Amino acid sequence: MSLDVSMKMKSAALLGVMLFFCQGATGQEKAQDRRKFLDPSTPVSDDPRRIPVKPAPSGPDRVLVLRGGRIFDGTGAAAEQGTLVIERNKILKILPPSSTEWPKNAEVVNVAGKTILPGLIDLHTHLTYPLTEGDVLHAPSEADATLRAVEKLRYFLESGITSVRDVGSQGDVTFRLKEWVRDNRLAGPRIFPAGQFITAEGGHSTENTPDEWIRWMGATRIASGPDDWRLAVREQFHKGADVIKLGSHFSREEIKAAVEEAHELGLKVTVDAETFYIRRAVEAGVDTIEHPLPRTDETIQLMASKGVAADPTLIPYQIIFDEWGGYFGSTSRRFTFSNEANLEMLKKLKRAGIKCGVGTDLILHWYRYLPGPYIRELKNFVAAGWSVPEALVAATRTNSEILDMDDRLGTLAPGKLADVLVVVGRPDENLDELAKVDLVIRDGYTVVEAGKVTIPRHTVAAQPRKVHE
Ligand SMILES: [Zn+2]
Repeated sequence: MSLDVSMKMKSAALLGVMLFFCQGATGQEKAQDRRKFLDPSTPVSDDPRRIPVKPAPSGPDRVLVLRGGRIFDGTGAAAEQGTLVIERNKILKILPPSSTEWPKNAEVVNVAGKTILPGLIDLHTHLTYPLTEGDVLHAPSEADATLRAVEKLRYFLESGITSVRDVGSQGDVTFRLKEWVRDNRLAGPRIFPAGQFITAEGGHSTENTPDEWIRWMGATRIASGPDDWRLAVREQFHKGADVIKLGSHFSREEIKAAVEEAHELGLKVTVDAETFYIRRAVEAGVDTIEHPLPRTDETIQLMASKGVAADPTLIPYQIIFDEWGGYFGSTSRRFTFSNEANLEMLKKLKRAGIKCGVGTDLILHWYRYLPGPYIRELKNFVAAGWSVPEALVAATRTNSEILDMDDRLGTLAPGKLADVLVVVGRPDENLDELAKVDLVIRDGYTVVEAGKVTIPRHTVAAQPRKVHE
């Protein structure tokens, strides 16, 4: 017996030493750690990649004043009457209602009876995913995938959503669209793409799908072994990823390699996983767990102690249970699954103090229900114990933190990017009023007016005259 105890003590000590070295060696670096080499005054791209850029003015050449309305600034403070002043693509200042301290040539818009909020963020989209009806045969076409994404961008924008984190799409589509939106050549929310969804042979998003279809659809990267998982992360980074999306199943070594690589490249990692794979992902140092899938109370505690966030996405499952009567036939969802269990999971995450963000995961034709599903997801938060203003803070400030963009987005404050939503009524008192979108400003540009996408007439370029005329 004594021998047994001493061996246990020795192995416990050895385990402690090993843990120390493991943590020292792997470091579990955060994506932001590499920014210690980047002075905050260096101009960088407005995305988590933080690429140094040539200093140049951005946004329209104007000062825009929104006066007469209430301001819900996304910090958690109560809404107050006030005036928002926007210069080019940044918020210049917030004035008390009596002040008129803005330049004479400013464009002034009266928003009386309306509420000004930070633009909403959706943490979980798949812009290129096909619909069930009509376009199945066209689905693999990259041209069709692009057009599907462009159509969806309009639905998001007209729902007051000014940023989406796309966690799995076809080919180069989301990377190209991100740049077109950034350059204001296309009306849409900012896109923060993950590129392809990385999983193992037979993992989530590959079940019930023939190999040829997975290849044609181009939204999933099947990886095998730690080196290949690391390579798959580098491929998405090379194409332009702002975040890395991983899915179970995976070995400890595979997820550890992928997370290390992503963090060293300065990108956060989010994971679609279930049961013990969630624990494995949390141990590997991931930043966010998608979905309300089952996990043990110990795993929830580990998420809390390591500061791992959640994007619970109850809404896609509510639509599935409503429309299909259940979630059937998936090898990556082999557990009892219900609306009640999902809501209970959200309550547990809240009780544990885990940071929860808002994402919709609207696949198929479901984007056509917008803004309904986004508002219903906020109501899920309220059902789980958030107040209405707290749910709106989750949709704005918390989502910007999970995106790794909270220094530029998520709240209305001087110096932040001008992504602004104006709705009729008081959504901070009644979430249904979030559907009454009036005005949307993205990066200082007015992109939605009177509830619909607005596109100014094109600027006619001056044609150079012939030299020998
Ligand atoms: Zn998804």
